[in-house]
Amino acid sequence: MNSRFVKTEAIVLNSVQFGEGHKIVNLFTEDRGKVEASAFGARKTKSRFGSKLEPFTILHLLLYHKNEESLFTIKDVEVRSHNISIRGDLTKYFIANSLIEPVIRFVAKYQSDIKLFNLLSDALRILDGIDPRKGVYLLSMYDIKLLSVLGYSPNTCLCTKCGRDLKGTAVYMDLYLGFPLCDSCKTGSSASVIDGTLKFINWVKDSSIKEAKKVTMKGHTLSNIRSVIEQLYLHTFHATPKSWKQLSEFVSYE
Ligand SMILES: [Zn+2]
Repeated sequence: MNSRFVKTEAIVLNSVQFGEGHKIVNLFTEDRGKVEASAFGARKTKSRFGSKLEPFTILHLLLYHKNEESLFTIKDVEVRSHNISIRGDLTKYFIANSLIEPVIRFVAKYQSDIKLFNLLSDALRILDGIDPRKGVYLLSMYDIKLLSVLGYSPNTCLCTKCGRDLKGTAVYMDLYLGFPLCDSCKTGSSASVIDGTLKFINWVKDSSIKEAKKVTMKGHTLSNIRSVIEQLYLHTFHATPKSWKQLSEFVSYE
């Protein structure tokens, strides 16, 4: 097999239709990062692809391209995980969108990252089997781990601005200055970070996202955690996933 063929694990992010019954599928692959691949005849009733190319599906693929510049074509597809319950539950569906959107928007094309690939595929598999009410805990764990995989892991012990030790002191977050901040560095626009949030962030760093199913917390803690994550996204990417808005209409944090 020559290099024009690529065998890889892949996650379907989304797809667009083109021409007579064809699809271009946006994939996050283990080997090549984000790539687009055409699936000829994917929308025909008797297509060999069937429902295998639906979003959130985890696949093993054989891709072909003529040369490095040309679009991949899907030659063969084997489903590793259908994650079918995600498409049957609206809360799970919006959580899954919130899991994949940062990869779609904030990760560069063709940049392979095995840690990120494993994080997203694990999160989708876990979401598929979890109680939908635990989904937002899974998402919060995922967001913290995603930021850390991409190199933006906050040190909760030291003020990000002046470096002061935050042990036993009040902690703040700020859109412009970041997180965490000490009492002297906070401004009028900074918000308080509660103890439960700091504990959660530190716990997530050493825990597997599988633990999401065991998490319980008060609404105001979850709301504070989501605010910190929002600030971290804004500070890092200057944007937050749009899917969070749809999700917040379904899941109340309070
Ligand atoms: Zn400070």
